[in-house]
Amino acid sequence: MRIAVLSDIHANLPALEAVLDHAARGGTVDALWCLGDTVGYGPQPNECIARLREFPHLAVAGNHDHAAIGRLGTEEFNPYAAEAARWTARHLSAKSRSYLEGLPLTAREGPFTLVHGSLRDPIWEYLFSVEAALAHLKLQATPYSFVGHTHIPLVLEERGDAEGGVGVRQPQDTQRLELGAQRLILNPGGVGQPRDGDPRAAYALLEMDGDQPLVGFRRVAYDVGATQRLMQQAGLPAVLWQRLAHGR
Ligand code: ZN
Repeated sequence: MRIAVLSDIHANLPALEAVLDHAARGGTVDALWCLGDTVGYGPQPNECIARLREFPHLAVAGNHDHAAIGRLGTEEFNPYAAEAARWTARHLSAKSRSYLEGLPLTAREGPFTLVHGSLRDPIWEYLFSVEAALAHLKLQATPYSFVGHTHIPLVLEERGDAEGGVGVRQPQDTQRLELGAQRLILNPGGVGQPRDGDPRAAYALLEMDGDQPLVGFRRVAYDVGATQRLMQQAGLPAVLWQRLAHGR
């Protein structure tokens, strides 16, 4: 069983296609798990949702998904994100809208929990601090969870020591991790708008064939210029397409 774990696609179809292509190179992709923010920022929200729906997939909602369907106001978004959210809302098809309306905040499958932000605040919280990670782990009923939202690949590991701390690692491209007894929070990074200074799309590949699940962290180059041109043509804020070239 090979599962591609995707987060923050952000309506970037060239990035999504590159990731799907890459994941399929090593064998059949049996399912997609999607950690939210499929839309927002990018120029092809309907196309990205339609592509996801071609696969058996499990998905949760992100803040941009909720903004696009009016379930979340954009007051707390920065002005560029808010402008893109309004653009997305205007361009969303009825089919895409009802798909986004049906997304749950969390999902569970086997030993994994899926959520966009954190279990304490599924839509909004960025899992950056040890305090936030500990609060999330307290609510995590499964050994492992996948989160997104920060657009930065990260592995947070619950330490069983007296201090009850959390170990933090930034996985490198091609790094594979065997999941064992340690409780973990895994962030695959962002497909459509990476923010760790590497413009390549990020995703994780979960392999569940052996005794222990294996998670591989992957980076894939895609045609950034193609997405940028579409964003320009759509009249989306320049800041949003310029940042794609820098992975910021
Ligand atoms: Zn996002």
